[in-house]
Amino acid sequence: MSSLHWADQLAEKIIERSHSEKRVPNVKCQQTPSGGKHIGNLNDVLRAYFPYKSVIEKGEKCEFIHMSDDRDPLKDIPAKLADLEAKWHDAAKFPELKKFYGQPLFKVPDPFQCCESYAKHFTIVWMNGLHEIDVKPILHYTGDVYKQGKFDPYIKLVFEKREIAGKIVSDLQASKDTSYIPFDAFCPQCSVLANIDDFDIKNKKVHFTCGGKTIKQKKAEGCGYEGWQPWSEGKLQWRFEWPALMSIFHTTFEPFGKDHAEGSWKSVMRIMPEIFNTVPPIPFVYEFFLVNGEKMSASKGNVYIVQDMLKIIEADVFKFYYVKRPEKQRDLDLTKIFQLTDEFDLSEQAFFGKGELQSENREENAKRMYDLAVSNPPKKCPKRVSFAFCAALSQLMPLDAAVEKLNELKHIETKQDAELAMQRLLVAKIWSVTYGGEHKLAISTAEEAVERKNALSENQRKVLSEFAAVIVSEADETKQMEKIREICKANNLAISDFFAAIYAVLIGKPRGPKLFTLISVIGREKVVSLIDSSGA
Ligand SMILES: [Zn+2]
Ligand SMILES: [Zn+2]
Repeated sequence: MSSLHWADQLAEKIIERSHSEKRVPNVKCQQTPSGGKHIGNLNDVLRAYFPYKSVIEKGEKCEFIHMSDDRDPLKDIPAKLADLEAKWHDAAKFPELKKFYGQPLFKVPDPFQCCESYAKHFTIVWMNGLHEIDVKPILHYTGDVYKQGKFDPYIKLVFEKREIAGKIVSDLQASKDTSYIPFDAFCPQCSVLANIDDFDIKNKKVHFTCGGKTIKQKKAEGCGYEGWQPWSEGKLQWRFEWPALMSIFHTTFEPFGKDHAEGSWKSVMRIMPEIFNTVPPIPFVYEFFLVNGEKMSASKGNVYIVQDMLKIIEADVFKFYYVKRPEKQRDLDLTKIFQLTDEFDLSEQAFFGKGELQSENREENAKRMYDLAVSNPPKKCPKRVSFAFCAALSQLMPLDAAVEKLNELKHIETKQDAELAMQRLLVAKIWSVTYGGEHKLAISTAEEAVERKNALSENQRKVLSEFAAVIVSEADETKQMEKIREICKANNLAISDFFAAIYAVLIGKPRGPKLFTLISVIGREKVVSLIDSSGA
């Protein structure tokens, strides 16, 4: 039976097409190094990566490339900018950037002054993130493809068929008429991109007046220079550059966001056959997602990059999020990372044949999702410690001690289990401090415990003191639990009121991690000293 997973279904289509075209398939994704790319934009890369991975697994060759559109102009300055270590800096620190508005990103200086340009810097930050999740497409700068002359035949075709090009532009964009030429040149005087008004195919030149281009409803200020430039000093506009790249690389498959589905993809479907004489790739539209219920926006600054995520979530679990069906809008709730991790753990169990998922389809899909998301699957099914428990433990003791404790409690067995638990403890610790909310934990100090006991009913205090005596005399947890029931019954206290009381005194919360685990983590002696009021 062939797999139902979306990536496998696409892989089959990719292979079928590459066989009929008799060439190695090309899977392409693409970003503008605008400085504001985030984990929503990561969709583009990962929706290409998983089908690519599936093609490779089927024993076929496949090319996976990533374009960096470094000739795109600087349109907006994000609210915050990441340095090469992925640390964020307020954009207000770089007021000089505004001067480069409208200039191609490869000509804009790196605000951190560590790389050749703005484009290079943010491409490196982005690619570092991809490498951290073990996704390694071959990187091409679009500017290099221009320099290599590979765009020339397509620029020529756009100029030769300018009537058809103008018609396509005006059909799809109401603001443009049929005389529009979709090519911009960089001004030799001020570097701003300017729309051209004439071209010379024989001498590969274009004519323009600087200042004639509108970017994001704002007129880019030019210097008024007028003249001819070689067309190598310019670029096709996006609607034409995109299909030209698809033609240059013979792209077999390319994913894109819903925004492009309604806009530039429609142009691609006309430009490739009508102007370039090429066949559009297999398309794939993905939905964007929300983070904490909000749309991410670089200008607002509520964005996350891969490097931010890997502080609070394991890399494989993070990738697991993207193997889910891509057509549905989701909300990535950072306060609920533990749920995503639980789902991952269940899929891992299914992968190793230990699943308890309701249906065979779900089981198969879960297995495949796990297999696609994980970079190096463990040799045997690991014994996992839940994220929520790791979050609790990581707050109560040093991480080395936490791993020892997990061993002692038999939550983990092998060396592999211990390594995986440590990875999870590391992220869970940062997560609980940053997004943990009600999962934040701290053991009460002696003073806090006194205060918290005073807030209880007399009955609750009495039961806690009696339970303290049990902890001292009885080590077996099952027997301790029996005693709790007996004491509660004798004192006419509901068992839920006992739990509410003990969590309140130990951690100042109405509930918490499993009680006996918590006692074991805090230590029996300390628990006794905190809950007992008999001597007070
Ligand atoms: Zn840099
Ligand atoms: Zn100029």
